[in-house]
Amino acid sequence: MTVVRTRVAPSPTGDPHVGTAYIALFNLCFARQHGGQFILRIEDTDQVRSTPESEAQILASLKWLGLNWDEGPDVGGPYAPYRQSERSEVYRVHTQQLIDNGHAFHCFCSTGRLDTLRAEQMANKQTPGYDGHCTHLSADEVARRLAAGESSVVRMKVPRPAVDAPAEERLCVVNDLLRGTIEIPWEQVDMQVLMKADGLPTYHLANVVDDHLMAITHVLRGEEWISSAPKHKLLYDYFGWEMPVLCHMPLLRNPDKSKLSKRKNPTSITYYQRMGYLPEAVLNYLGRMGWSMPDEREQFTLVDMIANFDVSRVSLGGPIFDVEKLSWLNGQWLKALPLPEFVAAFQRWAQPEFLSRVASQIQTRISTLSEAVDWAGFFFAGNVKLTENSFDGLKLSPEQIKAALQLALWELELQSQWDHSVIHDVLQRLNSAMGIKMRDFMAPFFISIAGTPSAPPIMEAMAIMGPDMTRARLRDAIAILGGVSKKETKLLEKQLAAFRRGDSLTEIEEQS
Ligand code: GLU
Repeated sequence: MTVVRTRVAPSPTGDPHVGTAYIALFNLCFARQHGGQFILRIEDTDQVRSTPESEAQILASLKWLGLNWDEGPDVGGPYAPYRQSERSEVYRVHTQQLIDNGHAFHCFCSTGRLDTLRAEQMANKQTPGYDGHCTHLSADEVARRLAAGESSVVRMKVPRPAVDAPAEERLCVVNDLLRGTIEIPWEQVDMQVLMKADGLPTYHLANVVDDHLMAITHVLRGEEWISSAPKHKLLYDYFGWEMPVLCHMPLLRNPDKSKLSKRKNPTSITYYQRMGYLPEAVLNYLGRMGWSMPDEREQFTLVDMIANFDVSRVSLGGPIFDVEKLSWLNGQWLKALPLPEFVAAFQRWAQPEFLSRVASQIQTRISTLSEAVDWAGFFFAGNVKLTENSFDGLKLSPEQIKAALQLALWELELQSQWDHSVIHDVLQRLNSAMGIKMRDFMAPFFISIAGTPSAPPIMEAMAIMGPDMTRARLRDAIAILGGVSKKETKLLEKQLAAFRRGDSLTEIEEQS
């Protein structure tokens, strides 16, 4: 009998996301339930956005949660390497095979041509996509242009049946473990780039080749990948490989039902770790996202979940990731711990590495160690207790304060790297655009982050606390100041656009 093998395949392009842990958890449970194996593969084909720091954080966060994999970049395994950036040659060979068999082609179209094509298609209300221009090139012409060093990508061929063709020719049918058959018209499937001009693969090619070569039997992934399934199915057919069973899990949602996003909710696992959630409670909560125990009990361990797992119990209605419910569940876990275990959890939460970074910020400011609580308490607190009077007596008007905090929040959301220099750059640019004295501009940030204007260097503190915690504090501060109305949001969005263009924002006060 075939051994069940599942995988989680995160792209290391940002903070470790709770969505990654959710998908990892279900893949792990599915594999274990069948006595199979669970693999971690790093999909770092996007060389611009992937970073080793992000990869390290993803691995550390999944381990913290107790989601252990049998094979992966750190532990190796029979199908190594498990990091796509180390597998370029594998993808090159497979792309060539597709070209040789007439399933893929070199495309020399310039960005200019593609942009014009797209604009025309949009104007004609057509689905934007490649028009097959380079499929008509002769083999000689392709060879000549390649030999001349002309830049090209490799695209996959996609059926283009006539509009009056029978349904079975017009539709791609994909089977999904939870959703049954999904039909997608071929005309909506683009002639996907498989290999970029730099010779590196795109997600689609690398994902299919690796799932096959790594003998993955079941792919449990987020529903945002459904539209990719026809491309993947076609690639499996082209290679003559059996396709793994697909299972598209429902997307996690914010309480307002929108897709879970860091704009509205902390999404980084490190945030939940820093806030003092227990890994068991986070896993328990993620296990309740669209799934429930047969006896509907709310509190259960990973071992319980594996023992009772049945993927057909996953319900497709978008599960809501609600931090308040998670906090309640975490409270249940904390209360139920025997005292020595609670003490151990408390000590683990203090994290020596975090503690030493915090300590380095206060050493020169205190005369007894106990004063550390006054200076460093805000690093550990879940949030600082602000009131609407907390911002009294500052040089900036309330409108300027809200504008500074909101614009900084939006700009910080965009950052994929998080360290002192990134934060400094954002705040300094904003400060000079707003034309305010640095000291006055920074005061509301001290209050939002530390609860007081006299705190250790606040940008360093933001760097240590991490992006999600920082953003949560800025959001809380804006809420305390009355929040931003729809009208204010419109004005601020204009300011943001102006700021991003490099314009001055000195009229904020007059306009608002
Ligand atoms: N690298 C993809 C991601 O970041 C993996 C998608 C899949 O599981 O196929 O989610």
